[in-house]
Amino acid sequence: QEAQQRHAIEAQITQLFAPEDDGLRQALQAAKQAGLPEIQINPLQGKLLQIFAAANHSRKILEIGSLAGYSGIWLARALPADGRLISLEIDPKHAEVIRASFARAGVAERTEVRVGNALEQLPALQAEAPFDLIFIDADKANYPHYLEWAIKLSRSGSIIIADNCVREGKVFEASPGMDEDTAGLVKYNQLTRDNPLLITIVLANDNDYTDGFNISVVK
Ligand code: SAM
Repeated sequence: QEAQQRHAIEAQITQLFAPEDDGLRQALQAAKQAGLPEIQINPLQGKLLQIFAAANHSRKILEIGSLAGYSGIWLARALPADGRLISLEIDPKHAEVIRASFARAGVAERTEVRVGNALEQLPALQAEAPFDLIFIDADKANYPHYLEWAIKLSRSGSIIIADNCVREGKVFEASPGMDEDTAGLVKYNQLTRDNPLLITIVLANDNDYTDGFNISVVK
């Protein structure tokens, strides 16, 4: 019954404060039709990304891990008309779905999908830095590397957000035999918490409060 109440409250907040429009709904539909996994952020997280982008007047946003463009649409909509979202995605099958969804959502002009391994693409992005907001949501094992790059590509006031940093509470401490994704997340949480350059909090805001964002601001 408690779970039911939590779901009802979450549904109400979503409906009132983070409703999906046609652009977002169609992006999900296109993803499903293309057979992509349904592992995107939820609408409350999308709205939260927009709040952070607006709070620090983001003009340049970097996303690592686009999937089907759902989070990208939320991010791009927080940008001014001359702003830019660069989204990195390793799987070329996704790129066309993403571009079509960005176009339907009216954000084609200010977005760019770059296909390839993010780790290999990040060094070249130094020429386009600093980014005001960086959203990390790709392969979990590489999160520590993504953090290193995110900091390099930041300025004071940049916001770095990483998804899946709660994972039922299993990613706050190393455990024997943990897989490399879990190890990556454990290290990410530790690195953000221990870095004196960052102010960090973890927020359980997905999957019935069992998963969520790690949010850092660069001092
Ligand atoms: N941010 C998306 C959203 O909320 O709509 C969800 C992203 S999904 C959880 C993770 C994505 O990262 C997948 O599309 C996967 O192909 C991509 N990915 C995995 N490893 C990657 C890498 N090394 N470089 C770039 N993208 C990668």
